[in-house]
Amino acid sequence: MITMKDVIREGHPNLNKVSDPVKVPLSNEDKQLLIDLLNYVKHSTDEDMLEKYDLRPSVGIAAPQVNVLKRMFAIHVHDVDGTLYSYMIVNPTIKQKSSNLIYLPGGEGCLSVDRETEGLTPRHESITLEGLRYIEEIDTLTPITLHLSGYIGIVFQHEFDHLNGILYTQKLFLDLPSAKPAFELTQVENDG
Ligand code: ZN
Repeated sequence: MITMKDVIREGHPNLNKVSDPVKVPLSNEDKQLLIDLLNYVKHSTDEDMLEKYDLRPSVGIAAPQVNVLKRMFAIHVHDVDGTLYSYMIVNPTIKQKSSNLIYLPGGEGCLSVDRETEGLTPRHESITLEGLRYIEEIDTLTPITLHLSGYIGIVFQHEFDHLNGILYTQKLFLDLPSAKPAFELTQVENDG
């Protein structure tokens, strides 16, 4: 299983590299990595696991964060309305993005960033993401198109950025006059 010992941190050069497309069909190794990434996120929301393995809470994690430069990530997060988004995504592309910008109130966080940061990160209010989704239960990789907006869209854009070697710390602004908050400030976690 993945723990924080496996997560590379800000300053590691591989966090700033563009990752390679994943070969399909998936190798067993890549399938296992996807499952391990998703399990990290799931475990990190389980209080017992969190404490036992000293995990940090998260809503997503990308392969480059465990030093594997391949274009895949896992997300397991509830939207503000309670809808669960649980995905293992391979070779995503962002096909459309709104010109309207939003930001996460209070700013973003990242498993690869150990320090407190100040500032807001602009994200597109809505995106259309295409890619492949791995479904473990039926061992299938299937094409998927996702229309994502608001908070969930921010989570996907954060993970997508990791595949291009971009950390949210490279997109911090103290003021974003042209952007709107994704929602009114609540207790939503956004460490990815
Ligand atoms: Zn991150």
